[in-house]
Amino acid sequence: MKIIAIGRNYAEHIKELQNERPDEPVVFLKPDTALLKDNAPFYYPDFSRDIHHEVEILLRIGKEGKNIDPAFAHKYYDEIGIGIDFTARDLQQKCKTKGLPWEIAKAFNGSAPVSAFVPKAGYNLADLNFSLRINGQIRQQGNTNLMLFNFDTIIAYVSKFFTLKTGDILFTGTPQGVGPVQVGDRLEAFIEDKPMLNFEVK
Ligand code: MG
Repeated sequence: MKIIAIGRNYAEHIKELQNERPDEPVVFLKPDTALLKDNAPFYYPDFSRDIHHEVEILLRIGKEGKNIDPAFAHKYYDEIGIGIDFTARDLQQKCKTKGLPWEIAKAFNGSAPVSAFVPKAGYNLADLNFSLRINGQIRQQGNTNLMLFNFDTIIAYVSKFFTLKTGDILFTGTPQGVGPVQVGDRLEAFIEDKPMLNFEVK
């Protein structure tokens, strides 16, 4: 399986990192070794001193597809979840300054903690609240109605380049409020009021 992630998909987050607003979705990949499941702890890596949390809504691909029309994109994902796109902001800043790819800052082992997935039926995907608490304090709150590119647009766009396969996971971008995590932090992520993800930084 592969993890496809979208960057710069919420205007307020683009502002906080002083990035440019993109004309098309910004896409990057994480390998399967980035996955952390079942609330497994995240071990703070020794190559960074500035690991940031980015809470994001996830889509699980339920059907293989390539060059998917936006009108049919909803047929290709049947479950949603929530995850953290851990980012080594110090390494990313170096890569960005030099115009180099981001992978070492975004795709390292354990950089993609994910919740269990739940059927999308019953959720209004165009108006979905989600949030991240650290040690009980709200750090990020978002709503999918603030995305620059909605789920169907993202699916159509990424499927021009990559065949989407059953079990692939899409990270759909983070709202404002990203910031550093510390060893000992407990991260809890919610879709609406439902606790979905709960793990510790070690
Ligand atoms: Mg992200």
